[in-house]
Amino acid sequence: MPTRKTALVTGSTSGIGLGIAEALAKEGHNVVLNGFGEAAAIEALRARLAGHGADIRYDAADMADPAAIAAMMERSLAAFGAIDILVNNAGIQHVAAVDEFPPEKWDAIIAINLSSAFHTTRLALPAMKRKGWGRVVNIASAHGLVASPFKSAYVAAKHGVAGFTKSVALEVAQHGITVNAICPGYVLTPLVERQIPDQARTRGVSEEQVIQKVMLAGQPTKRFIGIDEVAALAIFLASDGAKSITGAMMSIDGGWTAQ
Ligand code: NAD
Repeated sequence: MPTRKTALVTGSTSGIGLGIAEALAKEGHNVVLNGFGEAAAIEALRARLAGHGADIRYDAADMADPAAIAAMMERSLAAFGAIDILVNNAGIQHVAAVDEFPPEKWDAIIAINLSSAFHTTRLALPAMKRKGWGRVVNIASAHGLVASPFKSAYVAAKHGVAGFTKSVALEVAQHGITVNAICPGYVLTPLVERQIPDQARTRGVSEEQVIQKVMLAGQPTKRFIGIDEVAALAIFLASDGAKSITGAMMSIDGGWTAQ
């Protein structure tokens, strides 16, 4: 394999996805960015990453829409020949009791957090198989391993990602392709910041109590995980040194799921 590979990171205009995309660009890889945001801000991100020297593109495909995902994959494969490193990261959250959970939110979470990974992966694998090298890194969650109340759709989707990861890892194990999931605990990103007022309302407590008594209560290190830490793990999983790690749920949760 040449040193320069091509990566596609879904949901990479913000948070963890952006951190991983930037780390991949710093490693010299071409990157297809994806996600929502204001056009000028996204172009500024794209230009910043391109400053590391590789070909950085942006694709606006909506991860809730299988046809849009297929079109993004077709464009990316036409441009680069293969997506060597696929990072399925796009995700949303909604916090509500299950008997009050809006059905349209359930459908959106399953589509974006789970089904999008199926659509990107199924379309990326043929070129990876032809090259005999590939990396699929699924950003699951500690909620892919354990549950919390009021997050039924998210926990179901992330447990689904765990199952999908293991099953596909077995299918492609002899093709030089690894498929793993990263399972972070709480990382302070816009997704988590948005949950704080929702959780405060649902639980009837203050926002500071949500941070200390809900979010960090189960995280023994008592601090948020850094985006840079998750990105470093993704870079390792994408490396040749990680070629025998496959079908793994890689916890990076400050000890949360050790309890
Ligand atoms: P974030 O809100 O900062 O970023 C989410 C990204 O996904 C954004 O770029 C957004 O534009 C994009 N996105 C959302 N809906 C989309 C759609 N329909 N189509 C395309 N892009 C879409 O969130 P984050 O915290 O960085 O989360 C990234 C991933 O990490 C998610 O899968 C999340 O579940 C997971 N995760 C986050 C944490 C945490 O504590 N932040 C912990 C564990 C797992």
